[in-house]
Amino acid sequence: MLKQPIFSITLYNTLGRRQQPLGNSDQITMYVCGITPYDYAHLGHGRCYVTFDLLYRLLTFLGYKVTYCRNFTDIDDKLLNRADKELNDPSAYLILANKYISSFHEDMEKLACKAPDFEPRVTTHIVPIISFIEGLIAKGKAYATEVGDVYFRISAFEGYGKLSQRTKDELKAGARVAVRADKEDPLDFALWKSCDEGPGWESPWGFGRPGWHIECSAMSSEYLGETIDIHGGGMDLIFPHHENEIAQSEGLHNKPFARFWVHNAFVRVNEEKMSKSLGNFLTLRDAYTTFSPMVLRYYYLIHHYRNPLDFSPEDIESARKSYQKLCLALENIDPASEDEIRATSYPLINDIFTALCDDLNVAKAMGRIFESIKDMGPNELALLKGLLMYVLGLALEPEKKETVVITQEIEELLQARQEARDRKDWTAADQLRARLQELGYDIQDKKS
Ligand SMILES: [Zn+2]
Repeated sequence: MLKQPIFSITLYNTLGRRQQPLGNSDQITMYVCGITPYDYAHLGHGRCYVTFDLLYRLLTFLGYKVTYCRNFTDIDDKLLNRADKELNDPSAYLILANKYISSFHEDMEKLACKAPDFEPRVTTHIVPIISFIEGLIAKGKAYATEVGDVYFRISAFEGYGKLSQRTKDELKAGARVAVRADKEDPLDFALWKSCDEGPGWESPWGFGRPGWHIECSAMSSEYLGETIDIHGGGMDLIFPHHENEIAQSEGLHNKPFARFWVHNAFVRVNEEKMSKSLGNFLTLRDAYTTFSPMVLRYYYLIHHYRNPLDFSPEDIESARKSYQKLCLALENIDPASEDEIRATSYPLINDIFTALCDDLNVAKAMGRIFESIKDMGPNELALLKGLLMYVLGLALEPEKKETVVITQEIEELLQARQEARDRKDWTAADQLRARLQELGYDIQDKKS
């Protein structure tokens, strides 16, 4: 139990579609679905992991002991195809995966996302995945086909559809599942896929590779136990991925898989989801060349995680200005310590935590901050600065003005222009100014 719960946090639970208190147990386990490392991470990934980083930081700050696990799907058709294309060799997929895992780590670090406690990879967890599938077969929840595929038996799991709130019939109508003769039910999904060649592993059902969904069930129980507190991911994962994870985990363990299902909404461009498959995505590293990662983090934070985020340069620019305003107001202030922030009864700090604990309502917290920042004294500013740094993960460093580099050529043009002005040759002076402007220098003459 929390010794002294300062604030009680409530989160919107996709399972049941309502906001609920997280409870007072001070041990929290959190599993968030990670990436398939076959390309650079994009703005949509950034939004997801900043959301769960905020939750991680907030819970930790409030005194919860959080164990955070996020996986890497480092074997997958997309990855194999990409390895074939880029390296002319599908079996070199791990070279590609390693490259994109390290770029993902760099991108996350720039966004100030703390590293999870565990980052398991599928290819190093084939043994627990196989024994998970064996357990399901033993319980009659899965079956192997003649060709060596293994499917989950939907008819043996009553709660199927409870997360996405659809009946099996609705799911059947909505899902474009290939009807295969060897499947008992079109909704049955693959736990193991046989393959004749290419990367794979020996299994009781022959050579093959795990299906996508099984890894999260197997790895979360390996690191976090059979029931976890919070399971997170993007909204696009609700069906089928998370629905299938529930079927697998509850099918095997006969206990609730996750108490809370937390899903963030998409980043959209022209009202369409930003995604790799639609080709309308902006990678984080491309984004960082135009605006700083901290501005991007701030931009994510001020838009509530459950609302779609319509990406636009104007919106980013206004976030940049507002973040800069905050940085300047807190410049030269030493942040208060974590203990000082926890101990204070200063109403603004109280209000900020109340907003954050209300399903991560950062926008409301920021509203309160901008309303009162002008009237705050140095001690209060120190408390605020600390809170924004530790809990929101903002660095709060104001943008530096660009340093002007004066080259030899510029020096000579400036000199020549000054001489022209001295002899009152305004035409020549104007021409020299135009030349300097072409080179990107704007001249402002001091009024004498
Ligand atoms: Zn997953």
